[in-house]
Amino acid sequence: MKKSFRIRTLLLVCILLFSFRLPVAASGETTANGVDYEAVYNYDFYINQYADLKAAFVGNPAAAFRHFLTNGMREGRQASAEFNVQLYRQRYADLERTFGDNLPAYYLHYILCGKAERRNAAGTVAAAKPAQTAANTQKQQTSASAFPVIVLDPGHGGTDPGCVRGKTYEKNITFAVVLEAARILQERGFAVRLTRDSDYRIVLADRVAISNSYENAAFVAVHVNTLPYNNRYSGMEIFCNGESHPESPRLARNVLAYTTGATGARTSKAVTDSFFHVLKNNSHPACLIEIGFLSSNTEYPLLVSDSYQKLVAGGIADGITAFLAGQ
Ligand SMILES: [Zn+2]
Repeated sequence: MKKSFRIRTLLLVCILLFSFRLPVAASGETTANGVDYEAVYNYDFYINQYADLKAAFVGNPAAAFRHFLTNGMREGRQASAEFNVQLYRQRYADLERTFGDNLPAYYLHYILCGKAERRNAAGTVAAAKPAQTAANTQKQQTSASAFPVIVLDPGHGGTDPGCVRGKTYEKNITFAVVLEAARILQERGFAVRLTRDSDYRIVLADRVAISNSYENAAFVAVHVNTLPYNNRYSGMEIFCNGESHPESPRLARNVLAYTTGATGARTSKAVTDSFFHVLKNNSHPACLIEIGFLSSNTEYPLLVSDSYQKLVAGGIADGITAFLAGQ
């Protein structure tokens, strides 16, 4: 008696849950890489706005959303009544100056900053550029430059190879990973700055100075670990300094979670009171990730492989994106 009652209750709960979920399933997800695109993307609006999309994606919200992420934003398509990228660009000279032809950046700016700043991106017809007073322009300039710049710091370089195993240098692995992470983030519309863009030496103070030169930034340094006389120990390590910036632990948590998630690597260490120069002296959220041990016989072949480096880079990019989206 009691058991069948429990089963019936469970069944009822399932039916209720299912019926509540139905509308969500019909119009699809709007979240990718930790960013909720709801303000700029709506499945029904998107496919009804464009005949080619309707023909291709009716009844397939997941594929439509993928199209929006990979092509739609780049093509400047409108996918929400609230957001028209052409109007947004026309109305705000500061955005145009910052982002130029990088259309995905405008979508991301609206989600991360513009909506909260109550900027207007609504409308479906091209409007004339509004006249701006000098004061207006000045104010907008300030807030557009507050859009976060992602500073990626590939460890070592030039005469400083970092840790070495045979002919493998840490500086080359960190650079390859950072380049790929930068590519992914730029594709998503973020402004990315590297502390070094080829193989040369740059001192720690200069790396921090690049980060601190921005009004708003997030800083991630990438390194490879090593242990003497130990070819078994493996895993990723994350470092940050929560006193230098209160948001650094959240950035570190996201970067570690997405990077270990993408690779399946274990977490060896997580430090929130690190005194590494680039973390302690940073005025922005900052973390340093050690992506694995060159000394480890199991991680070494992974760390030198192109495919593993790409997985790590994807994890770093996703972690930063999720952090900036408030995760
Ligand atoms: Zn290093």
